[in-house]
Amino acid sequence: MAANCIFCKIIKGDIPSMKVFESDKTLAFLDINPLSYGHTLIIPKHHGAKLTDIPEEHLTELLPIASRIAKASGAADYNILQNNGRLAHQEVDHVHVHMIPKPNEKEGLG
Ligand code: 5GP
Ligand code: ZN
Repeated sequence: MAANCIFCKIIKGDIPSMKVFESDKTLAFLDINPLSYGHTLIIPKHHGAKLTDIPEEHLTELLPIASRIAKASGAADYNILQNNGRLAHQEVDHVHVHMIPKPNEKEGLG
């Protein structure tokens, strides 16, 4: 845990979030500024700014959970993104995987 990290505060419950999934090492919640309906962030509970800062055992659930949430969203198409560092457009320095559904035009979402 890092005292001044927004996502660590979400894990602790000090900042509210719309939780989608939680286990002992992973939390998933809706993005506060979604790029599409259902945009979800999947994070390890172990704090680290970049992927390379986190011990591998804390990363094992990230993609399987992103996959489950993508399936549950019902979107046929979706992006899985993971930014590391300012040049790569990372804004929050706690590792997170984005799951961004790409609803089709007919559904009118996103
Ligand atoms: P990044 O650019 O670091 O890959 O993405 C950070 C994401 O975190 C952004 O999509 C932003 O909307 C989201 N975010 C930032 N602060 C909060 C917050 O307090 N709560 C939630 N749910 N999402 C946040
Ligand atoms: Zn953190």
